[in-house]
Amino acid sequence: MIVASEISELKKILSTWKQNGDSIGFCPTMGTLHAGHMDLVETSKKQCSKTIVSIFINPTQFNDPKDFAAYPKNTDADLKLCEEKGVDLVFLPNVDVMYPKTSTPIQMSIPSLQSSLCGRTRPGHFEGVLQIVAKLFHLTEPNFAFFGLKDYQQFRVISAMVEELNFPIQVVGVPTKRESDGLAMSSRNLRLTPKDRETASLIPRMFQLAKKTIMGGERDLKVWKEILTDFLLTGMNVKIDYLEVVDPITLQPVTNLSGKILLATAVFVGEVRLIDNEILNCPPT
Ligand code: AMP
Repeated sequence: MIVASEISELKKILSTWKQNGDSIGFCPTMGTLHAGHMDLVETSKKQCSKTIVSIFINPTQFNDPKDFAAYPKNTDADLKLCEEKGVDLVFLPNVDVMYPKTSTPIQMSIPSLQSSLCGRTRPGHFEGVLQIVAKLFHLTEPNFAFFGLKDYQQFRVISAMVEELNFPIQVVGVPTKRESDGLAMSSRNLRLTPKDRETASLIPRMFQLAKKTIMGGERDLKVWKEILTDFLLTGMNVKIDYLEVVDPITLQPVTNLSGKILLATAVFVGEVRLIDNEILNCPPT
C-alpha cells in the first residue's frame, strides 16, 4: 500500500495507473476508520482495479471549532486497517497541502439542497464539504466515488455537484453499516460515555418505531413526528437537533406520509452529535 502526503506523489502514481488503463475508485474519509468505511472500500474493490482512500479532517466543514478540535484521530490504526483491506493508496495530506496559506478562499453551495437537515442547522458545513470533495476529485481523478448513505444529505449534495458540474465520475451510495443494536457506525461513537452509548440506541429504535407506526396505519405526519420525538426524548441527555421528513431527491419537506420519504435526524447525546436517516416507503394514502 502506498501512502502519499504530497500532491506530486499522488499525481505520479495516478499517471502510471491511468497509463495502465486502471479504473480508480475513491473513498474520501476523515479517518478513525471503522467497518462502515471499510464497506466503501469493499464496494470500490469490487468495481475498480485501484482503490484510493483519503484521510483528511477538513477544517472548512466544521462550523463549531470545538467539534473540530474534539474530532478523533487514529492514523496508525487507520493505515493498518487500509492495508489489511487491500487499499492501494492512502492520500494523507496535511492542512497546508489542501489549503496553502497563499490560497484564495472559494465558496460553493447548492442552496436548494442545503436549506434542510444538516444544511440548516450547521451553516457553512456543506460549503466546506463541496469545497474539499471538489478538490479531492480533481486530485484523485476517480472513475467512481463511494459515499455512505448514513450521510444521505452529503451523498445527495455531492451527486448534484457531480451532475451539475459534469465531473466525469460516478457517485455510488453505500448502505449504512450498523452496530449490533442498530446504531449507525460513526467515528463519533467513540466519544460517547458508556451511559450515553446505551442511550444512543434510541435512534435506531426510533426508526423501527417509525416503520411500525406507519404500517400500523398512522397517516398524520404531525402526530407521527410527535410520537417519534417523544420516544427520542425519553433518553437522558438527549437533545434533538432536527427530526425532519423530506423528499429524498429535492430534500424539501413533505406534507404527507405517502410514497418515498426520507426520515432524517440529528441528535445530541451528551456532547456528541449523531446523525441517521432512512428512506421509507409509505403505502399510498
Ligand atoms: P467520515 O469519515 O465520517 O467523513 O465518513 C467518510 C465516508 O464514510 C462518508 O461517505 C460516510 O458517509 C461513510 N460512512 C461513515 N459511517 C458509515 C457507516 N456507518 N456506514 C456506511 N458508510 C459510512
